[in-house]
Amino acid sequence: MSAISETGVVGSVDKDLFIGGKWVSASGGKTFPVKDPSTGEVLCEVADATPADGVAALDAAVAAQADWAAVAPRERGEILSRAYALLIERRDELALLMTLEMGKPLAEAKGEITYAAEFFRWFAEEAVRIGGDYAVAPNGAGRFLVTRQPVGPTLLITPWNFPMAMGTRKIGPAIAAGCTMVIKPAAQTPLSMLALTAILVEAGLPEGVLNVLTTTDSGGVMEPLIRDGRARKLSFTGSTAVGRKLLEQCAEKVLRTSMELGGNAPFVVFEDADLEAALDGVMQAKMRNIGEACTAANRIYVQRGLVDEFSRRLTERMSALPMGRGTEDGVVVGPLIDEAAVTKVSSLVKDAVDRGAKVLTGGSAVDGPGNFYPATVLVDVPSGAKLVFEEIFGPVAPILTFDTEDEVVAAANDTEFGLVSYLYTSDLKRGLRVSERLDAGMIGLNQGIVSNPAAPFGGVKQSGLGREGGKMGIEEFLEIKYIAVNL
Ligand code: NAP
Repeated sequence: MSAISETGVVGSVDKDLFIGGKWVSASGGKTFPVKDPSTGEVLCEVADATPADGVAALDAAVAAQADWAAVAPRERGEILSRAYALLIERRDELALLMTLEMGKPLAEAKGEITYAAEFFRWFAEEAVRIGGDYAVAPNGAGRFLVTRQPVGPTLLITPWNFPMAMGTRKIGPAIAAGCTMVIKPAAQTPLSMLALTAILVEAGLPEGVLNVLTTTDSGGVMEPLIRDGRARKLSFTGSTAVGRKLLEQCAEKVLRTSMELGGNAPFVVFEDADLEAALDGVMQAKMRNIGEACTAANRIYVQRGLVDEFSRRLTERMSALPMGRGTEDGVVVGPLIDEAAVTKVSSLVKDAVDRGAKVLTGGSAVDGPGNFYPATVLVDVPSGAKLVFEEIFGPVAPILTFDTEDEVVAAANDTEFGLVSYLYTSDLKRGLRVSERLDAGMIGLNQGIVSNPAAPFGGVKQSGLGREGGKMGIEEFLEIKYIAVNL
């Protein structure tokens, strides 16, 4: 149990909307409950924004845009640096708040606060490196002046699974680039975003730059803002199904988009892999965030000669993982986000078992209270099982067997998704060859975690458009302007 009080951290958060630099109640006066997924109990109520609140938030972002774009890049960077320091200083309280609303174990929540803060540190450094070009035209007469300007007011939508980091991964580059924002966190985990907002205010963010809408009516509030035309960009992280819908809405006013969507990561282990390292890697890639990660290993392909030992050793590790409330010492398997998640995981496992898969550990939901599903290993998973094609988003490790490199590359790529793929081999040539053949925006080569604020995160195919983090992250919030100079 943490020394910081649970009611204390929940009580410290402002539960209103944040519009034009002020905390305000929802115009309809309504609130909605935020629940602890490990008990089902209500933690608190937060403001439930209406479409009218959405318009007020966009008005504020539009009004602040010109002044904000004129703030010196160094000053924008310093606001991010101060916010970075505050996040690190308050890591323990913020982690507890996140664990309470989202369920992940406290140690992982602390890791996420650090990861989230690192986006601010990275983009504080990037704010002063927005470059341009000056070039002589081919005919020698004219000059090309190329500069970068903020895209303009942006709409940001984030999911519940990384409630802090998915926010800072967008807010960091938007601040660095000079864009104002309206952000809508997921209704299941609004508290982390509200706490982050207070930190940004304390760090000196001017009013109107960040506006925050918590709502149970995400479509009703956001669609009019997307179709309004004054916001010039949408950056979305969430499911591919919702992302598709939002892309259609963005088409009307031709908004710039960044789409960080769903994944279905293959985790490929060749016979020549370092077995211990592959087991460490698969535990990270599978169990980070209780399996509720877009980067989660969704299908584990093991070469035939290694499959029995790998399955046995993975089962030993998975069956030893303590399950419980994320605030308890040593817990690794926290609750899933809600009952629907438990139902979905259960039905995917049942489908695989009905088709012939064998359960080596776990395999059925645990009675409530709380939305618990145990760490599960399945072997002999047939290639037609639904979980081979759908994101499991839970602590289930399905193992499939392969013989040849060509066969596994074809199987790994047989998906509409292309976010990340993992592969383990001791043969560097094979590692690079297969990395090039896998259709994914990111590859974990003998590495179970790819996320890093200094690297470009993002997918191909229906896993998304654009990149967050790295040198490319800020480009998503900048427009190129070319000035043709007549000398
Ligand atoms: P989701 O259902 O798509 O929701 C994501 C966000 O969109 C939430 O804030 C949600 O708000 C909002 N939303 C839902 N419907 C909307 C609509 N019609 N208009 C506007 N906003 C809408 O996804 P999720 O279940 O929260 O998150 C899990 C998914 O995110 C997984 O597929 C995962 O792979 C993906 N993800 C991808 C990345 C990446 O970087 N590629 C990172 C993390 C997660 P409400 O929930 O409040 O309605």
